[in-house]
Amino acid sequence: MEESDIKFNVMVSLFNWTQKSKSSATKRSKFRKFLDAFCREPGDYFSAIRLILPVLDRERGSYGLKEHALATCLIDALGMSRDSPDAQRLLNWRKGGPKTGSSAGNFSLVASEVLQRRQGLTSGGLTLKELNEQLDRLSSSENRAEKTSVLSDLIRRTNAQEMKWIIMIILKDLKLGISEKSIFHEFHPDAEDLFNVTCDLKLVCEKLRDRSQRHKRQDIEVGKPVRPQLALRVSNASAAWKKLHGKEVVVECKFDGDRIQIHKNNSEIRFFSRSFLDHPEYEHAMSDIIAKNILVDRCILDGEMLVWDTSENRFADFGSNQGIAKAAKEGLDSDRQMCYVAFDILYVGDTSVIHQTLAERHDLLRKVVKSIKGRLEILVPNGGLNASRSPGEPCWSFVARSLDEVEKFFKDTIENRDEGIVLKDLASKWEPSDRSGKWLKLKPEYVRAGSDLDVLIIGGYYGSGRRGGEVSQFLVGLAERPMPNTHPRRFISFCRVGTGLSDEELDIVVTKLKPYFRKYEYPKKAAPSFYQVTNNSKERPDVWIESPEKSVIVSITSDIRTIKSEVFAAPYSLRFPRIDRVRFDKPWHECLDVHTFVELVHSSNGT
Ligand code: ATP
Repeated sequence: MEESDIKFNVMVSLFNWTQKSKSSATKRSKFRKFLDAFCREPGDYFSAIRLILPVLDRERGSYGLKEHALATCLIDALGMSRDSPDAQRLLNWRKGGPKTGSSAGNFSLVASEVLQRRQGLTSGGLTLKELNEQLDRLSSSENRAEKTSVLSDLIRRTNAQEMKWIIMIILKDLKLGISEKSIFHEFHPDAEDLFNVTCDLKLVCEKLRDRSQRHKRQDIEVGKPVRPQLALRVSNASAAWKKLHGKEVVVECKFDGDRIQIHKNNSEIRFFSRSFLDHPEYEHAMSDIIAKNILVDRCILDGEMLVWDTSENRFADFGSNQGIAKAAKEGLDSDRQMCYVAFDILYVGDTSVIHQTLAERHDLLRKVVKSIKGRLEILVPNGGLNASRSPGEPCWSFVARSLDEVEKFFKDTIENRDEGIVLKDLASKWEPSDRSGKWLKLKPEYVRAGSDLDVLIIGGYYGSGRRGGEVSQFLVGLAERPMPNTHPRRFISFCRVGTGLSDEELDIVVTKLKPYFRKYEYPKKAAPSFYQVTNNSKERPDVWIESPEKSVIVSITSDIRTIKSEVFAAPYSLRFPRIDRVRFDKPWHECLDVHTFVELVHSSNGT
């Protein structure tokens, strides 16, 4: 498609202006002026908008470059030594250093400071077309050397300002302070609608180039992912009940897996995630089942991909999906298998059914899907799921007649350690990207796991953004059970916790511990010997507390569910832990020990 030679530095001026302007009206009008003044040829719109909304661009695969990998590529592209101060600043971008000041915690700013010392001020005249070609090369390159070579080409053709924005595009976060909705609206009044039903930015840019021409509302199609209907969070059952007052309401278990849309078009079966990406890893595990048990040629199902444990006869904990899909592909024998729970249907035969009521769509689900226990299930009121929920409580979904029923279901859900519940208006349509309250979600508040967990801070992680350069999260540990009448000598890493304290409380703890922070520099150094950790890099804190006697105990609370820990050294870790209070009153050696904790887990699990 024809494209003019818009220079990237024009877009950089737009970015700088947009970032600086305070009012959203000014930001919007700047963007509009840019479109009017520079986009002339048909190809210009997509070329520009995909750079402004990089998260929505499906044409280009992932770059495989998060901050750390990007830092190493930039270091090589700039020909720096890994030990040089600038290389260290890039690698330790979260921490900042003496010269970093406010840029700590913001990778693109740290990078731009490093680049300023190496790049000239003059723009190399890169065009949007050229930039997009280079970004295509970057996403299709298979190894770090190729990526480095693309980055060095880009560095040669840009100045530090331009390169900073390119880095933000690669990280898919432009921090422009203008919503996707506003960008779409300024481009064309029908753009958001069309994007919601196609998730295809290129198509939107091609079809809607003429703002004066309204577009006939398009329906969903098999093969094109649709932006999902979303749930609005409510704080308790009575708020939910009040909101749906007078409506016929279905209450469902909120499953904890991957939201997946299945598109069946005869023998072609595709799995799309919430961010409208293809998930081919599910093909091997699920395509056969879908092909055989969906009784129409074409359809779209909406639901959750989960793992079913055949030995325990229950859904397995969240987090194992990718591993199980991979194991299935490699033919590894396992007690676990993928199971899809369809809770909605959007398309049947050659008709979209999203405008029908949920009750009607449930009927369609019953007709179209032949369910198979632990492999393919449908979630419809009173029946449906073959997989029983728990021995005395087989119900996953029911039409509620009173608030009491909702409350009881919610309580059972917490006891069953499910994620929460979803309430849906049975008369509602399914609307792409809508979070207006047709669906409401209710999740348990943090529940104490039996009693307070008094754990010891053993390390710290630097924050980003506002708390860049300062420790803002902690690694906490459990004590190894000491011999009678002695103090514990070793602490076992347990979980990472960042929420719960006010800024002021956090400052008090950080100030108290600061003199004992010991840096954990890149490349890795061993942890102090009285701490037991795994080799998993996710666990490694940025600083260790010099020795346990210098540290403080914090009481943490957590979602009642404990998960088996792969990352931390303790046998279990908590889900959504938060600090309840700091126990300056409790000496370090009164930290909870691992044995007592495991007993607590077992007693709260009823095992
Ligand atoms: P959360 O982190 O709470 O899942 P979210 O932003 O990912 O939030 P929401 O739309 O707010 O998504 O919540 C609905 C999500 O819950 C869906 O995306 C889906 O993955 C999941 N879910 C699980 N069970 C159901 C169900 N029965 N009906 C609808 N959504 C369900």
